[in-house]
Amino acid sequence: MLLTATRIHNGKHWLPEGTVIELSADGTIMALHDYTPSMDVQSYNGIICPGFVNTHCHLELSHMKGQLPEHTGLVPFLRNVAVLRNNYTQEQKITARSAAFSHMLANGIVAVGDIANTADTIDLREADKIHFHTFVEAIGFSETPSLQFEQAQSVLQQFAGQKQVKKITRQSMVPHAPYSVSRQLFSLIDKLDENALISVHNQECRAEDEYYLLKEGEIRDLLKAVGINDDFFIPSGKSSLQTYLQWLSPAHPVIFVHNTFTGRVDIEVAQTLLENVYWCLCPNANLYIENTLPDIPMLVEECKNICIGTDSLASNNSLSVFAELLTIKQHYPSLDWEVLLRWATFNGARALQLDNIIGSIDPGKAPGLLLINPEVDERVTILN
Ligand SMILES: [Zn+2]
Repeated sequence: MLLTATRIHNGKHWLPEGTVIELSADGTIMALHDYTPSMDVQSYNGIICPGFVNTHCHLELSHMKGQLPEHTGLVPFLRNVAVLRNNYTQEQKITARSAAFSHMLANGIVAVGDIANTADTIDLREADKIHFHTFVEAIGFSETPSLQFEQAQSVLQQFAGQKQVKKITRQSMVPHAPYSVSRQLFSLIDKLDENALISVHNQECRAEDEYYLLKEGEIRDLLKAVGINDDFFIPSGKSSLQTYLQWLSPAHPVIFVHNTFTGRVDIEVAQTLLENVYWCLCPNANLYIENTLPDIPMLVEECKNICIGTDSLASNNSLSVFAELLTIKQHYPSLDWEVLLRWATFNGARALQLDNIIGSIDPGKAPGLLLINPEVDERVTILN
């Protein structure tokens, strides 16, 4: 099959006008050609690009769509999630996550970095529709977190024992966030596999740094309110990121998620200490929870690799990577689609270590091809 469009983005940049994609029946890119009149080419109006990568999602929270008030700030939001997430039947959860998953597929997502506190989403991995990297989250702000670590290990083992499917399914244990994971638990996660892909909710609220700098503020209040004794915690006088990176082996590739209050020095420190660093933006969730956005122009200047996530339906109305790009474009119109589409495809694939099969329109890969018209509407047409 031969395809072309008004413009083609190969995941990294625009291809020259008149490029024709040769696609096999199973979706593998066979070759790229220059158009000649003798070719039997299917031609589309709009942009053809590779399938989207949702680098940060929580499919297991899909049943919480529309349940939590907007603009509360992160700390009240987290308290609401903790209280409400289990107030649902198994059947409600299954129905909601299956609908959310179909919605994600219909929006052209071909791979997901999915956060898991339970093994609920094994059913979605076994559906064998898209590639998964499941980030099994450990949570425990304690000096002796062995129970919390063992609990996360048990979930990790369930994912590792899942029946083999054709799509790639991988998993690693990761820390939830700097205010919910103690140094001791960071160390246990680190030692489990010093090369494992790490994802961490990073600097999503201002109070996180306040706690690390001074041991004061809303995070302190939250820990107290949920009965956690933080006597063992000594504030480092540095930002959270600059503190917890000392507790992780530099061999880890790390995806920093949100970065709403991340500064230039934090980025420089991370990119100096670690070889593989990705900065995942979830703008619609930031607007939902904190009613703010990260300093995206600063991130564009400083960050090596930006990628895109939707976060969960607890904090977003949609699991569409394209909708996230449209939000960014709306707030920062000078950002070019060439850059935005790279974040949503190639960079996401690299972040999830799937760039040998998806993320770009290169011969031998099977990235899934999408047709979009960002100037017209937010529909995503799946071409294969
Ligand atoms: Zn999240």
